[in-house]
Amino acid sequence: MSGPTADLRSDTLTRPTAGMRRTMADAEVGDDVYGEDPTVNALEERVADLLGTEAALFTPTGSMANQLGVRAHAGPGQEIIGDHLAHVLRAEMGAAAQLSGITSRTWIAERGQLDVDTVKQVMSVGAGTYQVGTSCVVVENTHNFGGGTVQPLDRMQSLRELTRSAGIAVHLDGARLWNAHAASGVPLQEYAACADTVAVCLSKGLGAPVGSLLAGSAAVVEEARAWRKRFGGGMRQVGILAAAGSYALDHHLDRLSEDHRRTRLVAEALAEAAPDVVDPRWVHTNILVLDVGAAGWTAADFSAAAREAGVLGYPTDASHVRFVWHLDVDDAMTEHARSTLVGLVTAH
Ligand SMILES: *Cc1c(COP(=O)(O)O)cnc(C)c1O
Repeated sequence: MSGPTADLRSDTLTRPTAGMRRTMADAEVGDDVYGEDPTVNALEERVADLLGTEAALFTPTGSMANQLGVRAHAGPGQEIIGDHLAHVLRAEMGAAAQLSGITSRTWIAERGQLDVDTVKQVMSVGAGTYQVGTSCVVVENTHNFGGGTVQPLDRMQSLRELTRSAGIAVHLDGARLWNAHAASGVPLQEYAACADTVAVCLSKGLGAPVGSLLAGSAAVVEEARAWRKRFGGGMRQVGILAAAGSYALDHHLDRLSEDHRRTRLVAEALAEAAPDVVDPRWVHTNILVLDVGAAGWTAADFSAAAREAGVLGYPTDASHVRFVWHLDVDDAMTEHARSTLVGLVTAH
């Protein structure tokens, strides 16, 4: 093995920086269940301002922010719909069903891309007393298992129009909405305006150790605050963690485009070496999904060989491996990943 180890399994792997840890240590705190933690309150106000919503609520995880969002729009025996790769439906351990009695249906979405005509076909409106009516549509931006793809704003806007006229809510799983904004230049508020609730994550590429927020109207956030307590997410002197989130917004938001640049650099090198393995047109942000099957590998063998060389990825299915750029991956690691992965995709 030569070169620095590049751990590209996920952007959740970032570790708090020295500056972030100092800010955490110095944070002013209070009991947040009583609404008395000034650092949490400031972060909630700041994120609500950033997203252009009335209010926001700090949560321990993105999954909880998502589950509070869908809970605000649907309850037992009611339905949410989303694409077949959606984190809410696939990667949250059936929480909507288990915690809220919510059922779900899906559609197939290529690379997670929103297609409003498809939503229209799946959506059930005015179903009467014989069928389940749709209460909420879930949209993910960027789309994790779609390969970090950005949803086109005009499609989100037309979904907003469609659902508004049908009386159906939209929940935006914006765990990486920061990345969508950095890649497309679309203001965060414009994305948020397409939804009733928005979940954003501080513990991915932004580098905080913990923390997400659910943003929406004051009424929805107040209700979500009660549900957060019910779900076991009422936290006490949690300003220590909110301080990490504020620090991340101060120092790590503007650098997300660095992650995108590095991801693109590797994607283009790989596409040149083995065009079937990746199409750079679908590499929008910090996630690179390789079709290693097209280069004669199984995902398991490919990731084992890459790991051996010090490049860690995550197999998403039998023939695809995902690599994610983040705060703790520099140019030297990127170069090591580039040469290693080019070597592997041209090995067979
Ligand atoms: C990571 C992620 C979440 C939240 O995950 P947690 O691990 O619960 O914080 C939600 N949605 C998407 C798309 C994600 O990638």
